[in-house]
Amino acid sequence: MQFYSTKHISPNANLQTVVIKGLPADNGLFMPEVITPLSNNFWQNLPNYTFQEMAFEVTKTLLQNSINDQDLQNIIESSITFDAPLININNNINCLELFHGPSLAFKDFGAQFMAKLMGYFTQQQTNNKPLTILVATSGDTGGAVAQGFLKVKGTQVVILYPSGKISELQEKQLTTIGNNIYALEVKGVFDDCQHLVKTAFLDTQLNNQCNLSSANSINLARLIPQMFYYFWAYKQLKNKNKKIVFSVPSGNFGNLTAGLIAKKMGLPVHKFVAATNANRVFTDYLQNNIFIAKPSIPTLSNAMDVGNPSNLQRINDLYKNNLQNIKNDIEAFSFTDDQTISAMQSVYRLHNYVMCPHTAVAYLGLQQYLQQNANNNLQGIFLSTAHPAKFIEVVNNALNTVIPLPKTLSDLQSKNKQSTIIDVDYGQLKQYVLELNT
Ligand SMILES: *Cc1c(COP(=O)(O)O)cnc(C)c1O
Repeated sequence: MQFYSTKHISPNANLQTVVIKGLPADNGLFMPEVITPLSNNFWQNLPNYTFQEMAFEVTKTLLQNSINDQDLQNIIESSITFDAPLININNNINCLELFHGPSLAFKDFGAQFMAKLMGYFTQQQTNNKPLTILVATSGDTGGAVAQGFLKVKGTQVVILYPSGKISELQEKQLTTIGNNIYALEVKGVFDDCQHLVKTAFLDTQLNNQCNLSSANSINLARLIPQMFYYFWAYKQLKNKNKKIVFSVPSGNFGNLTAGLIAKKMGLPVHKFVAATNANRVFTDYLQNNIFIAKPSIPTLSNAMDVGNPSNLQRINDLYKNNLQNIKNDIEAFSFTDDQTISAMQSVYRLHNYVMCPHTAVAYLGLQQYLQQNANNNLQGIFLSTAHPAKFIEVVNNALNTVIPLPKTLSDLQSKNKQSTIIDVDYGQLKQYVLELNT
C-alpha cells in the first residue's frame, strides 16, 4: 500500500515513511491510496471478535500488505489494551467512553498505537541510533504520548511544557514517568515550547547527529486506532435496525476523520455530527460554503480550541472537495460554555452521569440532531473523549459536588516530579538533546 499527500505534490510514500516522518514535504497530509471495504467475513464474525481481533482485521484491510500479520498482531496486542464501553444514557442516547487508557483520554488510542508502530519501524532501520521524539504540550497530548512511548525500545521522548502553565495533575503525568521519558520545563509559554521544537527540526546539524521525529497529531498512525472504536460501538449496539448517528466533539477533526474512514470501509453510519464549542469555523464552513480560519478562542472544552483544524485537508480530500457530499454525511453544530455547563448539569441530574466539558459538547450535538430529525428511526452515540476527573475543577463547580479521583490520578499525587528547567533558549534544548544521544 502506498500513501499520497493531500497536496498531491510530494511523491507517494510507504508506511514506514508515513509513520516516521509524519508529514509529506509539501505540507499536505498522508492518506492511503485506496480505502478497501471490509469483507463479508468481517461483518459475519464481528459479534465474536475481541476488541484486538477486530482491530487487527480493520488494520489489515486498511494497510493491506504494508506490515506482516505477526508483527501487526504484536503491535495491536501491546497498544490496544483498554476497552471502549458503550453506556446507555437514556432511550436512544448512548455514550461511547474512550477514556479508559493510561492518561484517561481518547488520545491514548492514537498515541499508544503510533508509539508501538514507530518503535517497530525504528528497529527495522539499519542505523541503530534511537529515535528521539520531541513534543511540545499545552497539557493533554503530552501525557498520552509519554504513556504511549514508555519503555518502547529504540525510542526516547523529550516533552517540553510551559512552566507553571499546566495543571498540577497534568504536570505529574509528564514528570513522574521516568524511564525513556524526559520532561523539560520551559520558562515560557506554550508557543515558546512549540517554537523551540520547530527550531530543532530545522537544525540540520542536530538532525545529522540524532534521529529526530515528532509525535504530531496529524500522523496517520494516530487515526488508524481511532477507527476501531467506531466499529466497537456498532458491535455493542443492541438494536442494529435503527439508523446510527455519531456525535464527535471536535477540535482538529482527527477523531471525526477516523469515523469517516470507518464509514468508507463499510460501517453503516447515517450521519456524523461535528460538535464544536465557540470555535465554530467548521459549522460556519458548512453554513456559508466557504472556509475561513480564525484565531482560537479559549473555552471550557479547551482541547477543542482550534481555529484552523488540521484534518480539514483530509476531510476535503475524502470527499474530493465536494461540499454537498460533505454535508450529506456531516452536520455541524456549535455551543457556548453556558450551554456546555447546562448540559453537564442536566445529564447529571436526570441520568446521574458525569461528563467532562468536551463530552458535554458532543452530547449537545447529538441532542440537537435528534430533536431536529425526530420520527426518523434514529439512535445516537456521542463520544466521551476524557474522564471528567481530568477537568475536576470545572466539573465539581458545575455539578456542585466533589467527584472522586480515579486511582491513576490519585496515585500521581504522591509521586515526585522530575524535570529539567530550561530558558526559552534553543542552545539549551540542543545541548540537552545532544547529550541524550551520546
Ligand atoms: C483532542 C481532544 C478533542 C478533539 O479531538 P480532535 O481529534 O482534535 O477533533 C476532544 N476532546 C478531548 C478531551 C481532547 O483531548
